[in-house]
Amino acid sequence: MLESWKEAQKQLERLGVKVRTGARVTDIDAEGVCLGDERIAAKTVLWAAGVAASPIARTLGVPLDKAGRVLVDATLQVPGHDEIYIVGDLAALQQDGKPVPGVSPAAMQGGRYAARAIRSRLKGKPVKPFRYLDKGTFATIGRGRAVGDLFGRLRLSGFPAWLAWLGIHIFFLVGFRARLFVFFSWAYSYLSHRRGARLITGPPVPRLLGPPPPAAAAPRTEPAPREQSR
Ligand SMILES: Cc1cc2nc3c(=O)[nH]c(=O)nc-3n(C[C@H](O)[C@H](O)[C@H](O)COP(=O)(O)OP(=O)(O)OC[C@H]3O[C@@H](n4cnc5c(N)ncnc54)[C@H](O)[C@@H]3O)c2cc1C
Repeated sequence: MLESWKEAQKQLERLGVKVRTGARVTDIDAEGVCLGDERIAAKTVLWAAGVAASPIARTLGVPLDKAGRVLVDATLQVPGHDEIYIVGDLAALQQDGKPVPGVSPAAMQGGRYAARAIRSRLKGKPVKPFRYLDKGTFATIGRGRAVGDLFGRLRLSGFPAWLAWLGIHIFFLVGFRARLFVFFSWAYSYLSHRRGARLITGPPVPRLLGPPPPAAAAPRTEPAPREQSR
């Protein structure tokens, strides 16, 4: 994995990106980002350090981890509640001392496991613990550039990794029509150098991290941000 990180950093630097590691973001506002005492001016900030679990988990009244995910046992059930299975991003499970990652393969494998487990239980058969199989990771970092590995062994980078990333994403889409549509739409974007834009519109958010200003406690009356695809 370390090799993939180094390769990703090299490819980003070739694109002119300055990569900073080992730095903790302490504040974000409309004018930039703070790393402790240092300030980086920026009008646009993209946050990729994780998302919170769906708030529905809090309504269950069961133990959660600090990201708000439900602590499940090895059979993806809530301890003391055999009738509840939790799969995907909402499940917090440790395997071999590491957390099962919040990625779509883990969610798909969990879903298939829960379906099989319920059928086995209905037939009175024993149920084996869930085991997440990490088939590999791919991440695209630009036009025709990606890094990744298959089963933690076969490492790919650059254009071959990007082709693999593309093929895997299209293969796992649901339905032939969706695959065909995405394939042609991506091919068009690639050949025409056009980028599909995702616009998030709505009132500006003055401060995202750090201590909330007193007004933040007041109920919001503005319309919620809208997402538009182009
Ligand atoms: C920006 C982004 C990029 C990602 N890229 C990748 C990637 O490249 N590769 C990868 O493997 N993973 C990626 N992931 C992670 C991946 O999307 C998730 O791990 C995966 O979708 C988890 O599946 P899930 O079924 O648990 O949850 P979701 O796919 O989030 O599905 C949950 C569904 O439940 C619905 N829901 C929520 N609350 C309620 C409610 N109260 N009532 C009814 N329905 C409700 C939601 O609307 C949603 O449709 C990415 C995630 C993000 C945010």
